[in-house]
Amino acid sequence: MSSALHCPRCKSPNITTRNYARKAGGALGAAAGAAGSAAAMMSSAEAGATLGMTAGPVGAVVGGLAGALMGALFGGAAGSVAGATAGEAIDNNVFDNHECADCGHTFGRR
Ligand SMILES: [Zn+2]
Repeated sequence: MSSALHCPRCKSPNITTRNYARKAGGALGAAAGAAGSAAAMMSSAEAGATLGMTAGPVGAVVGGLAGALMGALFGGAAGSVAGATAGEAIDNNVFDNHECADCGHTFGRR
């Protein structure tokens, strides 16, 4: 896809992709996902503890920890992917995401 791109000003094929929004989106999404997973952690820990309760107090603690860990992992990863995907859409549609390595001209996908 990008190999077919040419600079609209000087026709150079040396085009770099900036992906500012994708990078920012990924970082933001990971942060938001981690924050959101705090809530998920609570319910996951609760579910784990409830399940573990059948195995006694030790089972409740282990189950709670496992549940909290799962919630944190899933929340952060899902947030990062969602943020990067949203940022990529912004890159492709809003920003001049491509930059000519020869003349410095920036342009969006046409
Ligand atoms: Zn150029």
